[in-house]
Amino acid sequence: MKYVSTRGGMPPQGFADILLEGLAPDGGLAMPESFPRLSPEILEAWRSLSYADLATEVLSLFIDDIPRADLDRLTHAAYQPAVFGSDAIVPLKPLNNGLALLGLSEGPTLAFKDMAMQFLGQVFEYVLDQRKSTLNILGATSGDTGSAAEYALRGKRGVSVFMLSPHGRMSDFQRAQMYSLQDANIHNLAVKGVFDDCQDIVKALAGDLEFKSKYHLGAVNSINWARIAAQVVYYVWGWLRATSGPEQPVSFTVPSGNFGNILAGHIARQMGVPIRRLVLATNENNVLEEFFRTGVYRPRTAANTHATSSPSMDISKASNFERFVFDLLDRDPQRVRACWQQLAEQGYFDLSALKPLFEDRYGFQAGVSTHADRLATIRAVQQETGVLIDPHTADGVKVARQYVEPGVPMLVLETALPAKFGETIREATGHDAPVPAHLQDLASLPQKVQVLECSVDAIRAYLEQHAPV
Ligand SMILES: *Cc1c(COP(=O)(O)O)cnc(C)c1O
Repeated sequence: MKYVSTRGGMPPQGFADILLEGLAPDGGLAMPESFPRLSPEILEAWRSLSYADLATEVLSLFIDDIPRADLDRLTHAAYQPAVFGSDAIVPLKPLNNGLALLGLSEGPTLAFKDMAMQFLGQVFEYVLDQRKSTLNILGATSGDTGSAAEYALRGKRGVSVFMLSPHGRMSDFQRAQMYSLQDANIHNLAVKGVFDDCQDIVKALAGDLEFKSKYHLGAVNSINWARIAAQVVYYVWGWLRATSGPEQPVSFTVPSGNFGNILAGHIARQMGVPIRRLVLATNENNVLEEFFRTGVYRPRTAANTHATSSPSMDISKASNFERFVFDLLDRDPQRVRACWQQLAEQGYFDLSALKPLFEDRYGFQAGVSTHADRLATIRAVQQETGVLIDPHTADGVKVARQYVEPGVPMLVLETALPAKFGETIREATGHDAPVPAHLQDLASLPQKVQVLECSVDAIRAYLEQHAPV
């Protein structure tokens, strides 16, 4: 399996070669040269596999430069019942009216990003060890991604993490979750600024190529291909759990931000998993819903991006969207380049001529959910089923209800647990969200964090002192 760039300017490369890179050298994103195909016979043969064994099967289709026995060791280390709280790893939780939740948030940080990050941590350590190399992950977070990365990379050989977060602007829970990690290779840097400042500092340092190469800087952001590949596994798993025989259709609804999660669903569908609909749910930041409704992709400015009660979906542009557009444009890099050039010059591109394909060929539908919808959905789901859902999952359930069809199970991806978003849960239900037993004393644990000035130089100086080279 070789990987090419959506913009056509990268010679085909293996998985391990693109693993540690961000953007392709031509500014595009890595994609498999072609998608592996899953026949109904293969899918049936996988029905009785454990989650880790299924992950080995699916990931070995995308990774042929790691010996299968080694890959199997990595998936079993990543997807352990002790880490994900049950033998299922990803439980299916029935709601009502044809809906069920795909439980992706049973990992250490209570959000679906653990699903990909736990594998990423294993495979980073493995590849760095093979190459006798080290990596310093530099990132910015406003919550979920940073903590999932830290929990996946804590204590790993060859990797250190330097995670910038906006000082005083995360929830108590998120702060406690990240800052309580005491591992020597984890550095929490609270910057006296907002999230965008943190991101600008990361961009400046990663853009300084001399500094980047001297300090082996890397990233774990949502465009990392290994994260997408690891996410394909749970769409196959969800289909297997919701069906009893070949070719039975299942639909998925995905609370979306950067288009990483639902992109993995698109890939599973292209591989031959019988997925009928991929329903994309957004909050008030509906850049993607607007695209699927009109064919026009028009990212917002930071000033026009709302701060909502499903904050992990508050995006201005969708960093993985280019990978879907690549398929939509029949994998013609010249047309992809033209779209992104128009985007740079005019602030949008228009693919409305292809609108019939969105649903007919690719199964996409889309909908929006608002703060009032989230509150009403959290309340209704709890009253009707006894299940408490988080605000992001509520966006999914709200939109799923618009598109569910008789006889076709609709799986809503549970992208976080309610304990992470206590304020909105209280607003919706009048009660606190239950905190899992093992996290009840999180707030009282000692915290390790450096508060730094909001400047590139302050972070540069910290890295010069603390980053292993
Ligand atoms: C990251 C995140 C999302 C959005 O996922 P994308 O892959 O960016 O589309 C949704 N919900 C939660 C809780 C998240 O952490």
